Amino acid sequence: MAHGLATSVTLSLPAWLIEELPDLPDALATPEEQMALVHRLADRNWREGGGGPFAAIVVDAVTGELVSVGVNVVLGTGISAGHAEVMALALAQTRLGTWDLGEERELALVVNWRPCVQCYGATLWSGVRRLVVAGEGPELERLTRFDEGPVVADWAEQFEARGIAVTSDVLREEALAVYRAYGESSATVYNARGTGPIEAHP
Ligand SMILES: [Zn+2]
Repeated sequence: MAHGLATSVTLSLPAWLIEELPDLPDALATPEEQMALVHRLADRNWREGGGGPFAAIVVDAVTGELVSVGVNVVLGTGISAGHAEVMALALAQTRLGTWDLGEERELALVVNWRPCVQCYGATLWSGVRRLVVAGEGPELERLTRFDEGPVVADWAEQFEARGIAVTSDVLREEALAVYRAYGESSATVYNARGTGPIEAHP
């Protein structure tokens, strides 16, 4: 019998965010208001040291109700899968008691860049009906040095083909400002050994 094997995984939001949850609005009416919250949380997240400059929320696309909040918790938990999208989706599923977020409502995932290769899959399987991103393109990797992985070129079309509507370029410049501040800091970029953006960005 193998001893010392782990039996469960805990992915918890950081303490500073848990403390702030009661003060967050119940609803955010527009994609811009939703993204502004995402940017604020992403910026604070890396400054607090628990993970990268990434945040995501799940909202009701019709009413704007805030269903869940997530930030990147890789450094705080030591779990490489602890990306903001995974946190927001899993916490929404936990709250609603279902693995399919498309079951009853029109839910949207709002995140501060196009999902990485892991979160691309996590979003596809979550059941959300909408994905709202601040932007896409090489700027994220160039500014932060994070490796986003081999995401397919037609990623948005793949979402659309599965009934997930994609909206891009919501508060894009504000997203880049967060990445720029992060990139100019001495914060940890936690790519696994030997990985990093494949192209040599100038
Ligand atoms: Zn990710």
